[in-house]
This record gives sequence, structure tokens and C-alpha cells, in this order.
Amino acid sequence: METFRDAGGSEITPHALTEQEWAVVDSVLGKLPPLHRRVLQGHLRRLSFVDLKPGAGNALTSRADPDGKGDAFDITLRASLLHETLTDFLTAKDAGLFEDDGSGYRVRFNAGRADALTYVLLHEATHVVDQVLGLTADADGPVRKALWIGSRDLAEPYASSLAAKTRFRGSSRIPVHQAANYYRALARTPFVSFYATAAASEDLAELAAWRQLSHHGRKLSVTVVDATGRRVFRYEPLKSASVRRRLAMLDALGLFRSDWPDQIR
Ligand SMILES: [Zn+2]
Repeated sequence: METFRDAGGSEITPHALTEQEWAVVDSVLGKLPPLHRRVLQGHLRRLSFVDLKPGAGNALTSRADPDGKGDAFDITLRASLLHETLTDFLTAKDAGLFEDDGSGYRVRFNAGRADALTYVLLHEATHVVDQVLGLTADADGPVRKALWIGSRDLAEPYASSLAAKTRFRGSSRIPVHQAANYYRALARTPFVSFYATAAASEDLAELAAWRQLSHHGRKLSVTVVDATGRRVFRYEPLKSASVRRRLAMLDALGLFRSDWPDQIR
């Protein structure tokens, strides 16, 4: 709760799940890939939900041990995610990158009928998998190769790309009429989203979540429209050849194998 408060949240209170919400959470956890489930069974201390005013963070994965060591983790989620579509979630997330400049331009995602909770739990569970298996800690491993020279430092040409000049990497808000230029730049990178450029761990979490959703037939597009509603730019990250190569890399790594042993340490 303190971390959500530090991120600008207010009116933060623990959320008790209703019977119906328990059923939703059970169902989403039950659909996680086998490795994700095994790792959570062994390493998740607590999964909590909090009520807070929207706009101040969605989810947090943290080590349970306050000194940041140990291999037990807590995942804390904004409770209103339980009732959100992925389309609205992604649209709101990237809206925070842009500022209204009076142009009337808008950015809108379309993730079909996917729910936000499945995506967010895949993303957060991947952070736990990553830390337990040391995937992004491996400077020479396939996740970071040619993309990340540090856990947060991008290699060229991506470090100089407009795709890396968003609030997710500390830049200021972008006048929204420039949005198409930024998504065009993103389309020339192997990153599935702007958020994936924030750190190697976010890159992996975003990729793994989208690998699983696309495996189940989910589609994703982002559209920039002008004040008259005319489409200025449209991009489908899951159809990008360089993104698809990286989704295949996760399968080559074995992250989505169905035959993980019972014990993962
Ligand atoms: Zn994350």
C-alpha cells in the first residue's frame, strides 16, 4: 500500500474479494501456463487486492522479505482490474504517455474481448518466474541479447529510438498529435509495447503475457485517429516479424512447456 501511495495513489484500502470475484481469480489462476503456476505455488506468499483511485499503478510484484532478498514474493493488484477489459486497460495505460494538445487526436487499443486480469496476472507472474530462474539477470541470455546492455539500459539503435522517449523511460508527456510517429517508431523495434522498453524485466513480462494471449487467439491493435475520427495510423504488434521472432524465442527457452517437473527451486 505504501508503494501504491508513493506512486501517487490515494484512498488506498485493502479489498476483500466477493464470492463472484473469488471465482474470477480462481479461473484466471487456473489458466496460467504450467511453469507460471509451479513457480507461483513455490514462491508466491500472498496475492492481494487493493481499492484505490485509478491512475496510480495497477499491479506490484515485490519480494516478501523486506531486505529484498529471499525467494518469496507478494503480488498486489488494483481491485478494479477484476472488472476491466484489456482494451480499456491498455488504452488508459498508454493515454498516460500523451498530453492533450487541442488537436483532437486519440489513441485507442483493441484487444477484442480479453479481460485485463488475465493479462496482468500473466505479466506479474512472469516477474516472479524471471526472478526465480534469473532470466533477465543473464546479460548474455536470449532475452537481453542485442537489446539490453543493462537491466534498464537499451542497446542501440533502440536507445535512440522515439519508442524509448516516453514517460515509461523518464521522458515527458508527448503532445498527442505526435502519437503516430511514436507508434511508427515502436513498430520498427522488437518490443511489443512502449512499456516493454522500461526495463529488461518489463520487456520479458510483456512478451510472455502476449505470447500466451496470442496462443489463445487474442489479437491486438493500436489505432491513432484525428479529430474527425479518420485513422492516421494502425499497428498490430503481434503481427510484427521481429516481435514474433521473440515470442518464438520464449518457446525455444521452454517457458511454455507443459511438462515442467513438480519441484522448481
Ligand atoms: Zn511489470
